Amino acid sequence: MRALKTLLEKRAQRPTQDADVRRSLIESLYASPASLTIGAVTGVAVGLVVVSLSSGAAIHGVVALLCLVATLRVISAVFFHRQLVRGTAVASRGWELAYELGAWVYAGLLGLMAFVSLVGSGNSVIHMLTVSMATGYAGGISGRNAGRVQIAIGQVCLTLLPTATGLWLEGSTGYRVLSVAMVMMVLGLAEISSTTHRIVVQALLGKRDKSLLAEKFEKLARFDSLTGLENRMAMQMRLRDIFQSSEKRNDAVAILWMDLDRFKEINDSLGHMVGDQLLRAVAYRLNEVVQERGKIARFGGDEFVIICPDTDRVTAAGIAQELIDYFAHGFDLGENHLQVTASIGYAVAPQDGRDMDELMQHADLALYEAKGEGRNRSASFNWSLKERFNRIHEIETGLRRALDAGELKLLFQPIVDLAGGKIDACEALLRWDHPVLGAIPPSEFIPIAENIGMIEAMTGWVLRQACIAAASWPGEVRIAINISPASLKSPELPGHVIAALLETGISARRLELEVTESIFLDDSGQTNSILRELQRIGLRLALDDFGTGYSSLSYLRSYRFDTLKVDQSFMAGVSANAEDRAIVHAIGNLARDLSMDTVAEGIETQDQLRHARDAGFTNVQGYLFSRPVTSERIAEMIAAGPLEGAERPDPIVQTRRRRA
Ligand code: C2E
Ligand code: MG
Ligand code: MG
Repeated sequence: MRALKTLLEKRAQRPTQDADVRRSLIESLYASPASLTIGAVTGVAVGLVVVSLSSGAAIHGVVALLCLVATLRVISAVFFHRQLVRGTAVASRGWELAYELGAWVYAGLLGLMAFVSLVGSGNSVIHMLTVSMATGYAGGISGRNAGRVQIAIGQVCLTLLPTATGLWLEGSTGYRVLSVAMVMMVLGLAEISSTTHRIVVQALLGKRDKSLLAEKFEKLARFDSLTGLENRMAMQMRLRDIFQSSEKRNDAVAILWMDLDRFKEINDSLGHMVGDQLLRAVAYRLNEVVQERGKIARFGGDEFVIICPDTDRVTAAGIAQELIDYFAHGFDLGENHLQVTASIGYAVAPQDGRDMDELMQHADLALYEAKGEGRNRSASFNWSLKERFNRIHEIETGLRRALDAGELKLLFQPIVDLAGGKIDACEALLRWDHPVLGAIPPSEFIPIAENIGMIEAMTGWVLRQACIAAASWPGEVRIAINISPASLKSPELPGHVIAALLETGISARRLELEVTESIFLDDSGQTNSILRELQRIGLRLALDDFGTGYSSLSYLRSYRFDTLKVDQSFMAGVSANAEDRAIVHAIGNLARDLSMDTVAEGIETQDQLRHARDAGFTNVQGYLFSRPVTSERIAEMIAAGPLEGAERPDPIVQTRRRRA
């Protein structure tokens, strides 16, 4: 027993192959109980025939032992094989040793049987049987057990060396030749076993490497290497599982979609290293706040998604607020202290979405809402958000087609000279009749066109159409065109302007571009240079909706605007509100002193008209004179002569009623 233990310990200290490979090799010993059984049954059958043909006690003893060992080996092989099939087998050293001992003893007994029969019996039939048995067995086993090469070589030696010795001792020439051949065969079979063993081990190592690589790739595919959080793919799989199980139970599942506010600016100004540090710190904080309540994934960039099973809307709102509050502490990253805020949108199943994709989309929509509402806050999904989104989406897709499909139309609204009543200019106003949604106001579709990068093409179209219209009008009536800030940034604008002027032949002084104060929010210098270039061409510039933006008077000093258009909200309040009246008067005085033209927008009543005149405005525009109308209608109105109504209100009202 102690000897066995020492043997086991010694073997444990041997430099072993990789445990998996070793296990596979041990399993290969037991993989085919059939071949082991055939070897055992054949050995026993030969033994019994030999016993029946000879009367020696030694041979009888050897055969009896052979039968016993063969039986034990078959039983143990079948037992282990069953465990293998069930998956409960433990390919331990004990099993390997058991096989090794059994194999060596069995091989030794076969060799001994041949030896005893060769030296103790003169029967050549017995010689032939035992020698053939030993030789055949050795040949077969050198391949079968090559997985454990020392077992195979040991068995070959134990079978063939006693047989070769017996053959030599028998003494006849033929037997001695055979004896020598058998020794050579031992060497040959040992070589075959070693080679086969090497090939098997290499194949197993290759298989192991492949599975290790596959494991590594799977990990890479599931996790975000920067933060160690799960990535988008892993999260989607997790969510699918949660949905499949919660669908049956109808449980609440909340998805919180978080995006850092102005992360790009941090990345751009402090560099990607700091950006990465921040993302890692954010991931850490998310873990700290969320803990067991949900699973966090990084969805790429600065977007993180948290899935909270069994979470209702109130709890989701609570988690979102905790996160926002925790972010308020700022982040210490080396020498940088960053004050970073986050916006979070959340959606809760089953109310907000029945499947994973829908819920994700709705959480994203809620995030969009949180951003739109001013950032550093959370927003819950609700179905009116979805309706708004659908409408925006429909407008977006419609816009891409509208220009080519001829769905856009340009109308013109007169800007009337207050003193003489004549039409000084007309403002071009876009109209879009959507085939399904009906008339969509420009205040709705223009910002969307800006977002999807359609505004430049639209501005180009408007410029051309407006100049064509102006060229068809009698006299020198100006045309005013609204230019959105996004268009003004485009270096193509001066080119569009020049092309429209050349094509239609109207003079640059007849073209007036209306811009709003928001253009000054971008101080990149680009807007500045484009404005100057347009003025150099000779265009007039108007500051539209004055009073609604920052109304910084420094703009009026930096740029020579030709016209100031006071926002219609002031004119709407001018009759009832003393403050509005005061502002309108102040603007009127200011513009007069700066020698600018002034337009009062949105004049609908005689009272508003009177106030515009009192404030010293040079021009008025509004439904009182005309709604936006077609180019042909404008041509008729210009031809009809000055709108005397500016001085005598009543006829103008009649004109408006007749023509609107
Ligand atoms: P805006 O440049 O201030 O244009 C004046 C708006 O006031 C027009 O609305 C006009 O129809 C409306 N209006 C004129 N008189 C009255 C009145 O007496 N009462 C009332 N309540 N409203 C009056 P509209 O056509 O809906 O345009 C809205 C805005 O959309 C425009 O404001 C302008 O900022 C933008 N827009 C219109 N066409 C274009 C365009 O071709 N390009 C760009 N970039 N923006 C445009
Ligand atoms: Mg305008
Ligand atoms: Mg305006």
